[in-house]
Amino acid sequence: MITSSLWWLLTILGSAVAYIEISEEYLTSIKQDAADDQAAGEYNYDEQGDDWQGTCQTGTAQSPIDLIFSDAKIVSIPRLRFNYYNQTLRTPLIITNNGHTANMVIPLTRDGTRPYINGGLLPGDFEVQSVHFHWGSRNTKGSEHAINYERYDVEMHIVHKNTKYATMGDATLNPDGLAVLGIMMRSVNRLSTRNYGLNKIFNQLPKIVEYNSNATITGTLNVGQLLGNIVTGEFYTYNGSLTTPDCAEAVTWNVFSDVLDFPHRQIAKLLNLQDSRKRPLINNYRSIQDTNDREIYYRALNL
Ligand SMILES: [Zn+2]
Repeated sequence: MITSSLWWLLTILGSAVAYIEISEEYLTSIKQDAADDQAAGEYNYDEQGDDWQGTCQTGTAQSPIDLIFSDAKIVSIPRLRFNYYNQTLRTPLIITNNGHTANMVIPLTRDGTRPYINGGLLPGDFEVQSVHFHWGSRNTKGSEHAINYERYDVEMHIVHKNTKYATMGDATLNPDGLAVLGIMMRSVNRLSTRNYGLNKIFNQLPKIVEYNSNATITGTLNVGQLLGNIVTGEFYTYNGSLTTPDCAEAVTWNVFSDVLDFPHRQIAKLLNLQDSRKRPLINNYRSIQDTNDREIYYRALNL
């Protein structure tokens, strides 16, 4: 029989799903994430965000930016610590096409803990919330940040919330509210790379071509698998904003300089997704913003 939880999933996500047992808690997070996204109102990438209003126009600490090594302040700071990133997450994991990206809200681990990061220049402990992607088209690159003026094929964002705030809504109202990990991905002509958990996400993309569709990820996953084998000891960090409306200046950005190689045949699946207008969901990146003399820090490995 259909449980009330499943009923909610059908109601909120609005498309047919298989019979799955989903915890009330994960469902609440998915609903809240969708509500947060919709609270920003309708927006699209027709002008790479240059037509977005409010803080997106008037802000002075906006993202993304160009991360330039020679302009960065090299600092001796602790490495980022990834707590419970190797713990298996509860299943099912649900990935959604929200019209702007492929988005996965991250559930608790099987032990009931929430993976979190600290260290670096992070002002506290930041719990993982969700992961999504920005990409280009057949002949354009889609990363949001650039490193030394170079943009990459895809940029993955793993969004975290300061544990001192109860909700994402509260967190976005504060400069120390959020921390995002930015991972550059390079499309490579290899059939497969190492067994990244990322493959499990990308394998489901053909099932979420349509706006508002969702799919369950098969098998198990931990958050650490999203990072593959990139070097996490070297990264740029700075104070910036969400790269989608309302562009809240609430984010401590951490963008790794190492790049994750990923098969072209997997990345190509992103290009088939559609937005709410049934148009191809491509080039879903915001244009580069002014740094306005913000300090950009770089943590090098051998410090
Ligand atoms: Zn993003």
